[in-house]
Amino acid sequence: MRVINFNPGPAAMPLPALERARDELLDFQGSGMSIMEHSHRGKVYEAVHDEAIALLTQMLDIPATHQVVFLTGGAHQQFAQVPMNFLTPAHPSADYFLTGGWSEKALEEARFYGTPRVAITTQGPDKRYTRVPTQAELRVDPSAAYVHFTSNNTLFGTQWHTFPEVGDVPLVADMCSDFLWRKFDVSRFALLYAGAQKNLGPSGVTVVVASKEFMARGRQDIPKVFRYSVHAENNSLYNTPPTLAIYLARNVLAWIRDLGGLDAVERRNREKAALLYAALDRHAGFYRAPVERDSRSAMNAVFYLPTEALDATFAAEALKAGMAGLKGHRSVGGIRASLYNAVSVEDVRALVSFMDHFVKTHG
Ligand code: PMP
Repeated sequence: MRVINFNPGPAAMPLPALERARDELLDFQGSGMSIMEHSHRGKVYEAVHDEAIALLTQMLDIPATHQVVFLTGGAHQQFAQVPMNFLTPAHPSADYFLTGGWSEKALEEARFYGTPRVAITTQGPDKRYTRVPTQAELRVDPSAAYVHFTSNNTLFGTQWHTFPEVGDVPLVADMCSDFLWRKFDVSRFALLYAGAQKNLGPSGVTVVVASKEFMARGRQDIPKVFRYSVHAENNSLYNTPPTLAIYLARNVLAWIRDLGGLDAVERRNREKAALLYAALDRHAGFYRAPVERDSRSAMNAVFYLPTEALDATFAAEALKAGMAGLKGHRSVGGIRASLYNAVSVEDVRALVSFMDHFVKTHG
């Protein structure tokens, strides 16, 4: 029996994408072998690879100036690869907007390659982050090689609902935990990256969407395997890509298409977030949601019960009721409900009715 899965990532996969994988696992389209047994240079795999790229390109309306690239190494590799490619002796600095633990880690890696600057931080005196900055607070160094920000802060449950305006400086985003939660204007980004394991598929593949011109400007004096331009020129087949993860991402993308595309996904996601935050507001004397209203994440809702013991009881009783993955991140505690694309409105209704009941029995 499958449970309702509120895991923060790796996270719930859409059931039709898994069922399709199950049905095709042993004999992919009459080829007599599983997709993971095919050569990455063969026609059978290449069709899957190109379909995944085409589906993504269509649903995000990715302009011809930009390209989808599949890499490995997760967001952690991107934390290093971005500065490795784009910090140069002429442009040793980049601006980082700090809004949580992941942007801090991205900054740390940039220090190996240049002199990145903290353009703003929203860290509070208790070391926590409960909001993203407003546009009025942002001051960007016009000579920065790029600006880096994290579009959704998975640990703290904050999200940029309007992307920052940074003038002519290339905009780079870590979109790990809200990529594909809705459609957005890709052309505003020089480069964005996301590990697949939230909205796109299993872990193992990282999707990069970047301007071709920007990738071409990357350093040529670094190993080829770290150059975006090399992977872009080779249609992400420079080395052996994570074929199974890309195949599963293809299944997830086909599921999004069949659901009605990203507009339908966004409607579902907004309805889910509205239901959950309404429950938190309804019981504000019991559940404490620390994030400022305008910064609330539609993907990760973080909240605290009156005591740590009650946090633990909540997560344990929820698990007994068939809802997994609600324990908060070890660094911040509390409860976190991750509402990625594969989580349905009905799943969130089940959580909300559990929350209502929990207040009655423990409030
Ligand atoms: N950035 C964000 C916003 C994340 O949510 C995560 C993972 N939860 C990471 C980076 C790190 O991803 P990985 O472990 O795949 O490198």
